[in-house]
Amino acid sequence: MDCLFCKIIKGEIPAKLIYQDDKVVAIDDINPQAPHHKLIMPKKHIATLNDLATADNELIGHMVQVAKKLAKDFNIAEEGYRVVMNCNAGAGQSVFHIHMHFLGGRPMMWPPG
Ligand code: AMP
Ligand code: ZN
Repeated sequence: MDCLFCKIIKGEIPAKLIYQDDKVVAIDDINPQAPHHKLIMPKKHIATLNDLATADNELIGHMVQVAKKLAKDFNIAEEGYRVVMNCNAGAGQSVFHIHMHFLGGRPMMWPPG
């Protein structure tokens, strides 16, 4: 399958891996929008949020728990951080393997662009 993030997960394309377990990996975003900009993604290929099955609920919950752990590890849990998932092109999704953006280390504005 021609999927950039599947290739990163398999080690076929290099990336800075910052966390991994049996279900997910987290990497540095190649074009960081904040001092801490990580991408948390499932090892399993799921193209968009629209493709999630009810059976994936635990996986998504686990991704949120990984975000919480990263915030603690980076010592920004109290100051705050943001998690974002873009679904489809209109929302800015450019890689069609679901991923949670983890952003922190600077004040965040609302609404996002
Ligand atoms: P999205 O636009 O929500 O699909 O997010 C895709 C993200 O992947 C963007 O923030 C990109 O900067 C990031 N990205 C693209 N290619 C790579 C790569 N090879 N390694 C790490 N991050 C990447
Ligand atoms: Zn994939």
